[in-house]
Amino acid sequence: MSTPKRYTITAALPYTNGPVHIGHLAGVYVPADIYARFQRLQGKDVAFVCGSDEHGVPITIKAKKEGITPQQVVDKYHAIIKKSFEDFGITFDNYSRTSAKIHHDTASDFFEKLYKDGKFIEEVTEQLYDAEANQFLADRFIVGTCPKCGFEESYGDQCENCGTSHNATDLINPKSAITGATPTLKETKHWFLPLDQYEPWLKEWIVEGHKKDWKTNVYGQCKSWIDDGLRPRAVTRDLDWGIPVPAPGAEGKVLYVWFDAPIGYISSTKEWAKREGKDWEPYWKDEDTKLLHFIGKDNIVFHCIIFPSMLKADGSYILPNNVPANEFLNLEGNKISTSKNWAVWLHEYLEDFPNQQDVLRYALTANAPETKDNDFTWADFQARNNNELVAIFGNFINRVVVLTHKYYNGVVPAASDFSEVDEQTLKELQAYPAVIESSIERYRFREAQMELMNVARLGNKYLADEEPWKSIKTDEERTKTVMYVALQIASVLAVLSEPFLPFTSEKLKKMLNVSPSAVEGSLAWNDVSLKQELLPTGHTIGKGELLFSKIEDEQIQKQLDKLQASKAMNEAANRTITPQKDTCTFDDFTKLDMRVGTIIEAEKMPKAKKLLVLKVDTGIAIRTIVSGIAESFTAEEIIGKKVTVLVNLAPRALRGVDSEGMILMTETPDGKLVFVNPDTDGVDNGATIN
Ligand SMILES: [Zn+2]
Repeated sequence: MSTPKRYTITAALPYTNGPVHIGHLAGVYVPADIYARFQRLQGKDVAFVCGSDEHGVPITIKAKKEGITPQQVVDKYHAIIKKSFEDFGITFDNYSRTSAKIHHDTASDFFEKLYKDGKFIEEVTEQLYDAEANQFLADRFIVGTCPKCGFEESYGDQCENCGTSHNATDLINPKSAITGATPTLKETKHWFLPLDQYEPWLKEWIVEGHKKDWKTNVYGQCKSWIDDGLRPRAVTRDLDWGIPVPAPGAEGKVLYVWFDAPIGYISSTKEWAKREGKDWEPYWKDEDTKLLHFIGKDNIVFHCIIFPSMLKADGSYILPNNVPANEFLNLEGNKISTSKNWAVWLHEYLEDFPNQQDVLRYALTANAPETKDNDFTWADFQARNNNELVAIFGNFINRVVVLTHKYYNGVVPAASDFSEVDEQTLKELQAYPAVIESSIERYRFREAQMELMNVARLGNKYLADEEPWKSIKTDEERTKTVMYVALQIASVLAVLSEPFLPFTSEKLKKMLNVSPSAVEGSLAWNDVSLKQELLPTGHTIGKGELLFSKIEDEQIQKQLDKLQASKAMNEAANRTITPQKDTCTFDDFTKLDMRVGTIIEAEKMPKAKKLLVLKVDTGIAIRTIVSGIAESFTAEEIIGKKVTVLVNLAPRALRGVDSEGMILMTETPDGKLVFVNPDTDGVDNGATIN
């Protein structure tokens, strides 16, 4: 497309059955925000829209579980999610919700038009039904084996393992998620979008048309689905939570959540346009508009196949120019999981790292899962902050501001003759906007942010090489020139950092005493390449403050401890209790002679990983006992330990040593052995246990 007249940028509607975490931020919202901010800085006409996705089965399941209404569930999470986005500087022009009237009307009208134009197939088919719950089972109400990849916990509409979208009746061994029952089949009428009819067109549009410009992960998934052959998809459901189907004979049915959710982008745009006194239609219907969907890889099928087919069926809409979907972000080596609380929640992050939104934005972009799944670790987060933001970016700015105040009372000095290095440096700076732009326009945000940091590196190197703190004693004119150049670098950083580190950019602009972005007299993105001088001689800068602060080991440890606690909770929840053994008689029990004893010596059994050879005072005698506890204890730490000993166990030889008894042990959930030593203070060795 030639230069677009305007941009419609959508970010995946977050599902309102929980708060948002770093995976969402890294995969969708930070890249979308960088892109939107960047286009606005270029003076482009942008509509950046999003909203809460509030329909669908998981919300009704959550409501049932918590004993509240679905509306209460969505109200709660809509508020939390909306606030997190605001807190992290995600600059949506509008953040709506699919329970809003404007959305119900828009989605309803959309369906009705397609219905009237005869775009749906109306069909009575047999659908899965849970007789016990008296309910049809669709989407997440049903779990079974994916017909494509064999994953055993696939949902009725989509397999989260391979991303394939299918019909609930395709599942192998389906089970009701409500009662666990095997469903029966029952007839019901639904409306289907005949995707098979769109196959030739999708082939032309995606397989042939977007081979070069779409990301390979996105293109590859689409191509494989299209190659496999598409089938009609039901766009209605037998449910009571959602948008009622506006068709005769559709009582008790609602639109499928994945039919109504993407229409949410349109209704959010309408809501925004209405508020701003604009016309929404060019943002969705003018060929000169660039429509982009920022999503995670689990939503590719809906944004590349189903929603475009809906738009095509309507006929009056434009199609997405690109769908730059990201892969997944893992956390400390494991898949992020809401149900297992294996996540970093945005609202919790801000409690522990107040005003440090940019550090997280930075670390997530530096590690963004753009081409493959990536891992977020707290150690990397700390290193990105301490070694890059503090040591490079922050350090450079701090030196420039401090020295300008110290030498020139905060006034930008006049430069005299530029050296070759000065000329080169100023020229290099002017090239950065184009370099960063090129990466952003190809959706390579990691690369773009790295180039931004190269500006800070350039500044650091310039100061280190030119050493104004030395030349101030010998050459005042040279020092002025060096500080003049350094101040230009600082102002370039203030401008170019805005899409990536918006809070830092604002702070830095304040420090340099230039207007914040979008205010008259502020520095524009394009000024960097057009003007060599952003801060003129004689301009007074503001007071210095630290842009970034060091993150200490204790802060990181606290986060790791939190995750460890989640892990322990999950292990406890998943622990299987060994079933009780057959009953025994009192006589059976009294055959066991258990005594209190004390370990008096311990050493490792040579060449045996698990075994310790112990000498135990049982009160009766000093016994040798070979015990398989070496992986849980060192020999030294258990000497003097009170233990419970089964003293009349028939002796047996272990690796040539006669073991004359057994020490009673139990085990923690993660497999560490623990002595069974009831409160035996003041009890002598040899006391019997019964
Ligand atoms: Zn699968």
